[in-house]
Amino acid sequence: MHWTALSPKSKEKRRKWLNSPVYQKPRPNKAGAFFVHRFYIMRPSIFFLAGLLALLSCGRARPTNPSAQGLSRAVFDTLYLLPATDTDTATMAYLQRHLADSFQIPVILLPTQPLPAFAWYAPRKRYWADSLLKWMRPIAQNGRCRWLLVTGSDISTTRKDHFNWGVMGLAYRPGRVATVSDYRLQEHKRPTGAVRAALLKVALHELGHTVGNDHCQQPHCLMQDADGRDKTAQLSGFCNACRKRLFRP
Ligand SMILES: [Zn+2]
Ligand SMILES: [Zn+2]
Repeated sequence: MHWTALSPKSKEKRRKWLNSPVYQKPRPNKAGAFFVHRFYIMRPSIFFLAGLLALLSCGRARPTNPSAQGLSRAVFDTLYLLPATDTDTATMAYLQRHLADSFQIPVILLPTQPLPAFAWYAPRKRYWADSLLKWMRPIAQNGRCRWLLVTGSDISTTRKDHFNWGVMGLAYRPGRVATVSDYRLQEHKRPTGAVRAALLKVALHELGHTVGNDHCQQPHCLMQDADGRDKTAQLSGFCNACRKRLFRP
């Protein structure tokens, strides 16, 4: 595919992409970078289908659990969980159930997807979380829904002075997409149940960013900055201010 065949709008998209900080990060080789360009235009069909599904079902969503009626619902209507092929089904079922309970909205589990090769950072054997978010953007067409990519692989971003800083999650603030990883939560041979509970808290934190919440100084608030450590055991819920942006009155 040649760039000369692109419409002016696509050319503008390409220009933005080439100038974006994510693109300029080191790539394993030239071929890998080319793949990024091609991928940006030739989206996989599963993503097209997922986007279509999302468009059709957003806005008509209602709580699936009758006992949820009367409780506060999230400001977004539907949450889509996108599991990478390195996740396990029990963890995804746990997240689906508990996120639906927390937000009082339908949480829909999408088919598993392999993570895109262009997001791989070989020197440290992990994925750029920024690239994963960009990868998901084409499916996130509806502003009333959110998409959460879950992976068991290590993910990273560049933060302040830290190049390729390992993280447990990343999201756009505000935005429609977020990603979480339980790779760093597995350390110290933690029991599976504790890992899942911690992953749920990370997911709640990242989804909190998608509605515009910044990091919060309140003790025990889920929007606290992890600062490179796993603080999830100390966090119990959202403080009033953070809650206000996430839930309907
Ligand atoms: Zn955060
Ligand atoms: Zn807070």
